Amino acid sequence: MNATMRAMRLHGPGQPLALDDIPVPHPGAGEVQLRVLACGVCRTDLHVVDGELDEPRLPLIPGHEVVGEVTALGEGVAGLEVGQRIGVPWLGWTCGECEPCRAGRENLCERAEFTGYTRDGGYAEYAVADARYCFPIHDDDAQAAAPLLCAGLIGYRTWRLAGGEANRCLGIYGFGAAAHILAQLAVARGQHVYAFTRPGDDAAQAFARRLGAVWVGGSDETPPQPLDAALLFAPVGALVPTALGHVKPGGTVVSGGIHMSDIPAFPYRLLWEERSVRSVANLTRRDGEEFLALAPEVPIRTETRAYPLEAANQALDDLRQGRLSGAAVLIP
Ligand SMILES: [Zn+2]
Ligand SMILES: [Zn+2]
Repeated sequence: MNATMRAMRLHGPGQPLALDDIPVPHPGAGEVQLRVLACGVCRTDLHVVDGELDEPRLPLIPGHEVVGEVTALGEGVAGLEVGQRIGVPWLGWTCGECEPCRAGRENLCERAEFTGYTRDGGYAEYAVADARYCFPIHDDDAQAAAPLLCAGLIGYRTWRLAGGEANRCLGIYGFGAAAHILAQLAVARGQHVYAFTRPGDDAAQAFARRLGAVWVGGSDETPPQPLDAALLFAPVGALVPTALGHVKPGGTVVSGGIHMSDIPAFPYRLLWEERSVRSVANLTRRDGEEFLALAPEVPIRTETRAYPLEAANQALDDLRQGRLSGAAVLIP
């Protein structure tokens, strides 16, 4: 194996990623080394690179939708084999001892480490990961599977916390990677999807229609009937009161993103009648196991655009500018 590898690294927030030649990382105890086959580009990567999330590891290899093939096992790894295809998600390590961990809420671990943020991620030819947080991937198409690892998993948790199958009319704000996956799940479950895009974004609206949305409009439009719940995947705080204004009494608005612009003040009557607003933070391994089992049953087909590793800055910019339908995926 080569002693060095190519990696796209962040050296300072707000700077473009640099193509660096660095040593191939070796797996420590409990870790696996993988050859990266595909790594999805998530909006969270954009928040890290743009400096909207505090204190990333520096220099940092971003990327937390990593699909790869195990190339080496560290000491004490059980349950994974060399040659096996695995996925590495955002949740990279938890302590197992803090109060949330002991309560089965490892997504809220006080000392959690995150792939592509506080640990190096998958914008590289090789990566290492704690074996306990990796998922077996059975899809032969690494590029198609990559977006399932965050857009899919976090989207699934967002859908679940909004009430899951119990909702009939489901609004989705921001029709990108997570929304295009969740819409397929919701439609398969007989839910009516109301898709809200950036006003005037014809490509996103056509995309949502193609995936089975019963109604498609701009985020400034009023749906033809009230919603049971709304999922927010756009990082726009003003959408919180907007969505609250469109959900029924008792309805829930759930934000799936890690960062959002400030939420403007709004009148209490929007929250009145037992409406609620909540956020989703990270994922648990159980979310991953449930969702990855469910994805082939639906079946969920991701729509991706491939970029070579060294075009990571272009992929990030296409996401930033809203030029993508579906998900960007880097292929080292
Ligand atoms: Zn913990
Ligand atoms: Zn993500």
